Amino acid sequence: MSGPAPGPARVVGSPALGCLAGAQPLPADGPGWQAVRLSRNRNWGHPALLAFVQDFAGAARARGLPELWIGDMAQPRGGPMPYGHASHQTGLDVDIWLDLSPKGRTPAAAREDVRVASLVLPDETGVSRAQWRPGHATLIRLAAESPAVDRVLVNHAIKRELCRAEAGAPWLRRVRPWRGHDSHMHVRLRCPAGQTECRDAPPPPPADGCDASLDWWLTPEARQPPPRPSAPPPPPLPAACAAILNGG
Ligand SMILES: [Zn+2]
Repeated sequence: MSGPAPGPARVVGSPALGCLAGAQPLPADGPGWQAVRLSRNRNWGHPALLAFVQDFAGAARARGLPELWIGDMAQPRGGPMPYGHASHQTGLDVDIWLDLSPKGRTPAAAREDVRVASLVLPDETGVSRAQWRPGHATLIRLAAESPAVDRVLVNHAIKRELCRAEAGAPWLRRVRPWRGHDSHMHVRLRCPAGQTECRDAPPPPPADGCDASLDWWLTPEARQPPPRPSAPPPPPLPAACAAILNGG
C-alpha cells in the first residue's frame, strides 16, 4: 500500500509486530532536518512521531548542532518491512543519523545515497576517536531525555563510550545497546495517550545498563551467534492489522 489507511491516527500492536492507520508523512525537510531516501516511502508515522522529529531538530539546533538527516520511519500503514528492520511497524520509530557535518540544503535526489562514517571501531570494542565528537553524546542524550521517548538504540560500543563518560546518569537507562546502529540512532516513542490498541515494548531494566549486560556484547557468544537450525515462522500480526494493511 503506497498510502495510509484512512481515519484518525490509530496504532495497533507493538514496534516489532503491528501497524497503524491514519499515518502522516514527514515533510521532506524542515527547520533543522532533512529526510533521506524518500524513494523508499518510509517517512510515515503517527502524528506524535512527526512532532517529535520536528521538536528534536529544533532542540538540537538550539544547542548548536547541525542539521539532522532523518532516515527510516514507517511504511504508510506500518507493518513488517520487506527488508531491513524488525521493528518500525507502528509509526513510533525513527532512525536519526549520527552525523554532525554541516549539510546545507541538499536536493532530495542527492539524499538518496547519503553515507555516514561509522562511529565504531571495526572490532566494536569502542568508538573511533577519529569520528566520535562530544556532539554525538549530546544528540543521544537529548533524545533519551525527551519525554515522549521510550528508548534509544545504539551500537554497544557507543553505549560503552557513554558509560565511560557518564556512568550513573539516569538517561543512560533509556540508551540500549544493539548490533549495527554505528552511524545512526534508533529512537522509539512510547505509545501516545489514548492509543488503547498500542503495546509498548517491555521497559528497560532499572539502572544505567553500564554493567555485565553490556560486557556480554564482547563475548564470543555475542560476536558469533550460533546458527539457528531453522527460524521459527513469525508470529501473526494483531487481527486488526489485516483490515489496516489490506483495506481501501
Ligand atoms: Zn531503526
